[in-house]
Amino acid sequence: MFSSNSRLRFVNDWKIPLANGQTCCENELLKEFYESGGRRKDIIGALNRVPMEPTMIEFCKQLHAHGWKLVVLSDANQVYIQEILRHNGILELFDRIITNPAYWDEERLVISRLIGPEHPPHQCPLGICSLNICKGQELDTILAEYIQQQHQMIKQDEGTVKVVHPRLLYVGDGRNDYCPSLRLST
Ligand SMILES: [Zn+2]
Repeated sequence: MFSSNSRLRFVNDWKIPLANGQTCCENELLKEFYESGGRRKDIIGALNRVPMEPTMIEFCKQLHAHGWKLVVLSDANQVYIQEILRHNGILELFDRIITNPAYWDEERLVISRLIGPEHPPHQCPLGICSLNICKGQELDTILAEYIQQQHQMIKQDEGTVKVVHPRLLYVGDGRNDYCPSLRLST
C-alpha cells in the first residue's frame, strides 16, 4: 500500500515518463534498478535466460541460408534484442535491427525512444501505434530501400531496370503489428 506522501511522490516522479510513453517509463525503471544495486551483469544474465523457441532459431538459420534478409522491427531496445540474438548464436544473421536506441552508461542501461519527444510525431494514419515507433512506416522505409538496392543490382547486371517486388514474410504477435500487417500487399 502507498501512503499519501509516497503516492504523491509516485505521481510527481512518473508524470513526465508516463506522458512520454512506455519506453520512457522503462528507462525510469532501469534507473531505479541501477540505484537499488542492479548492474549490467544482472540485466545480461536475465536476457540470457529468456527462452527462444528452438524451431524459430532454426527457421532464422534456414531463411538466411536461402538468401532472405532478416530484420527485427521492435518496440523493445537495441541491447535487449542484440543480447538475446547473440546468446542464441543468430545475431550475425540479421541485416538490421530497428528499435529504440540503448547504451550502457558504465553499469546502467539507458534507453530512449526511436522517435523522441523532440522529433515530429510519426503521423501514423491509424492512430494506434505507440508514440515512439510506427512499425508500418518503418516497414515501408525498409522495403523502399531493399527495392532500390535490387534495382541497382539488376541495373548493374543487365543494364536495364525491372520492377521487382521483394517477397516479404512478416511475423508479429503484438498490437503494434496490426499497422504493418495492413501494408502487406500481393
Ligand atoms: Zn502505424
